[in-house]
Amino acid sequence: MYLGIDDTDSRDGMCTTYVGLHAILKLQELGYDVIGYPRLVRLNPNVPWKTRGNGSVIVRFGAGTGKKLFIGEYRGTRLYAYTREKKRQIDSKELVEYLARNLEKFFMLDEKNTNPGVVISAKKFPEKLYWRGVRELLTVEEVERIIAESGASYKKYKLGRGIIGASCGIAWRDRRRTYELLAYTDSDTRSVDPATVKEIDRIPSIFDSYDPENDYIAIMPNSRTPVLFGIRGLNPQELIRAKSMLRTSPYHSYLIYETNQGTDDHLVRKNISEIEDYNSVIVKGTVSKNPRRIEGGHVIFEISDRTGTISCAAYEPTKGFRNTIARLRVGDVVEVYGGVRKEPRTINIEKIRIISAPPYREKISNPTCPNCGRKMESMGAGKGYRCRKCGYKVGEEAAEYRVVERELEGFYEVPTIARRHLAMPLKIMKNMRNVF
Ligand SMILES: [Zn+2]
Repeated sequence: MYLGIDDTDSRDGMCTTYVGLHAILKLQELGYDVIGYPRLVRLNPNVPWKTRGNGSVIVRFGAGTGKKLFIGEYRGTRLYAYTREKKRQIDSKELVEYLARNLEKFFMLDEKNTNPGVVISAKKFPEKLYWRGVRELLTVEEVERIIAESGASYKKYKLGRGIIGASCGIAWRDRRRTYELLAYTDSDTRSVDPATVKEIDRIPSIFDSYDPENDYIAIMPNSRTPVLFGIRGLNPQELIRAKSMLRTSPYHSYLIYETNQGTDDHLVRKNISEIEDYNSVIVKGTVSKNPRRIEGGHVIFEISDRTGTISCAAYEPTKGFRNTIARLRVGDVVEVYGGVRKEPRTINIEKIRIISAPPYREKISNPTCPNCGRKMESMGAGKGYRCRKCGYKVGEEAAEYRVVERELEGFYEVPTIARRHLAMPLKIMKNMRNVF
């Protein structure tokens, strides 16, 4: 059986993963076992109505069998899951009502943009639903149809958009995956020793803990939530080791989630003419308009392929990444990875592969007259030079040039401080299966 919960948090409070922790406790109280790691599934980061991270929580449960799996701790009690599930029939309709009733105290229902949904299904939904949820826009009605066809049960609150994420999360097949260990506190006193964060960030399988360029601690949330910290990495054992290396203020519980964070699952390779609003894309093109800095500190340029032209942006929050983008020139060949903003239609760059950035010539000075030794003057762009004293003329090539080496080819990414949940950091790219 699969339980999916989504859209319970708000911009300034709570966190769906904490609701997930309480869902696990409730399920165990009812005599169910958790099967496998709980899952935190991020969906289309470009949807206009998302709450915070647009992530749903999925818990597989039932009668456990197979190996025991350590998944975390709740106020001193160790939490386990099983690796496999014995088949058993459960009345999902009754259970979804019961769980929703018991968890709704954690839902931020007063918040306008919070529209929770709880789904219980005996089987995974078709995988296609996940890919649509992470890459496109879905409606509540569409998803309700799919739930009904599968014989699953659900409970909606307000607009009930949460059933979209909950169902798409149930449909996830974890072809690429990472893990996040989240620690929870009740206290308002929160601290993490930066030196220990820098230390765990050096572990090769751990990513996005610390941003050296901006001296930013990325494991602590900015908003008020029960989360004290979240460490992201490629395997659960290394996360537990990293947790033990951290020095922090006290926390009462922690839980390891399997997630699609850092997988680039949202990205689709497209030609420019195929791009639609709210897509996330990989587009190869040639720089057709030089980068320029606009108000607010954003850097914008244009790329073209044989099907069209589109603007690309490194926004102010991407900090030093903008300096790399500003070095691009018309004629460079690049592959841009990012989300599509609607108005004006622009790719918000998450990372870029600069395929070719050839050296170029830059004029240092006008030629000297071979007749009388004076500096010559330009007769206009591309028209050559003339000596004002003796009238002697030479071509453009006579000027003095230097070759500017670019040394720009390769992958570049936004710094950790600006990373989106789904974006795959370069640090773990080589570890990921079937990446592009
Ligand atoms: Zn001359």
